[in-house]
Amino acid sequence: MRKADQLYINGEWTTPVDGTVQELTDPATGQVSGRMVLGGGADVDRAVRAARQAFGAFGATTVAERIELLEAIGAEYARRAEGMAQAVTAELGSPINLSRTLHVPAAQHQFHHAAEALGRMEPVDRRGSTWVRREPIGVCALITPWNYPALQPAGKVASALAAGCTVVLKPAQTSPYSALLLAEILDAAGVPPGVFNLILGRGSVVGDVLNAHPDVDMISFTGSGPVAEGVSAAAAPTAKRVLTELGGKSPQIILPGADVDTAVGTAVFYGLGNSGQTCGAASRTLVPRERLDAFLDALTARVEGVKVGDPQAEDTFMGPVVSASQWDTVQDYIRQGIDAGARLVTGGPGKPHLPGPLKDGHFVRPTVFADVTNDMAIAREEIFGPVLSVIAYDTVEDAIRIANDSPFGLCGYVTGTDARQARAVAERMRTGYVLINDADFDFNTSWGGYKQSGNGREWADFGIGEYLETKSIVGVTS
Ligand code: NAD
Repeated sequence: MRKADQLYINGEWTTPVDGTVQELTDPATGQVSGRMVLGGGADVDRAVRAARQAFGAFGATTVAERIELLEAIGAEYARRAEGMAQAVTAELGSPINLSRTLHVPAAQHQFHHAAEALGRMEPVDRRGSTWVRREPIGVCALITPWNYPALQPAGKVASALAAGCTVVLKPAQTSPYSALLLAEILDAAGVPPGVFNLILGRGSVVGDVLNAHPDVDMISFTGSGPVAEGVSAAAAPTAKRVLTELGGKSPQIILPGADVDTAVGTAVFYGLGNSGQTCGAASRTLVPRERLDAFLDALTARVEGVKVGDPQAEDTFMGPVVSASQWDTVQDYIRQGIDAGARLVTGGPGKPHLPGPLKDGHFVRPTVFADVTNDMAIAREEIFGPVLSVIAYDTVEDAIRIANDSPFGLCGYVTGTDARQARAVAERMRTGYVLINDADFDFNTSWGGYKQSGNGREWADFGIGEYLETKSIVGVTS
């Protein structure tokens, strides 16, 4: 039984004022696996007060001091990498290999990337006697989702601390273990009291208090669109900056002449990896009509060979989805796809057959639909599960139009053998990030969406910039 029974406020471990407790379940078995305390308004007030008090000194630290701190955090993170991988697998059900090779390194490297980026950024832009300074915005509430429970808090904390801000982190209710370990890492690395504070709890309680809190200067929110709308509305009376990083329905354009293996590799890794619970998941697969059959044959063979099962097994590719309610949501979309007339190529409703306690886990069959049209719900809405919607196109112009015909604009994928054409298509996608062929995912650049995928940018210098105010001092003579 894991325990998440403390909050971290002002450099100390503490129990919440009202002490409500919630049970946590193991996504792989559906069984109770731990308990978590829920913070309340009084805890938030204490944390915000601590962050405000710490801001005076921390906001005045030098760039060199903050670089040193960020590097120390990165080093401490590396020492606890295995513990963090186990925490992510326990709370998310992510296969242990994915936790070790993606979730944890991506998070750990955020601190090194932020340190490196901070070293490149000019704190003052001198324009004659006018100096333009970039200064930390102040106390920031960081609100994060469960699907990348290590990366999301790490990216925000690294950027905010690099900028000189102090923070209160509220992680998702299903993923407290990695957040607690992050607090331990920051503590061990020497982050001064009050600079980082952790409040576990419900969005409707802790989140609501943070949204409206007069002493919070900025909210950095990653999550769903409907919740973001409420956060922004609640933050409006105090004119807080609200950074939003939201959902997606990201297209993969497979160009004529593309290598089928590369195309299938992208669709499977980015569409089904992490059980499809990725904001930038390649969930719409756009295929030239004349190559549809060949592509579907190769895709089906690969998907049916994917190992779904025990997250602790080294060779598992896909674990469960995070919760029973997420499982229900995905099932509902699979049914909507069938009812709308899409052709079920593989997978479908229900659970895969798994042995022992795994049969009660929240496992979904990796599912591929063909004959999808871009107006179907499975092509327009974020499913957040392992479901690919394959859409045939006639011309590349047509593919670009379909790709951009979405309320979202987070990520795009282009697969093709003509490098110039692939880049030209990437440039025309209305998304904040585009990955060409099997390029390694780059966590040391900007991340964020167009349209309803959000209004901010995270990671590296782009992330740090979001936590800064700009001040002009005119008439500087000395
Ligand atoms: P969610 O919106 O339900 O919750 C996100 C966070 O908001 C959680 O910590 C939750 O407790 C909190 N919250 C809930 N109500 C709140 C309130 N009233 N005030 C303040 N906070 C509140 O999202 P989720 O289900 O945890 O995450 C999945 C969503 O996140 C998907 O839509 C996914 O695409 C998106 N996401 C986006 C990115 C990105 O970088 N763009 C990355 C990861 C996930």
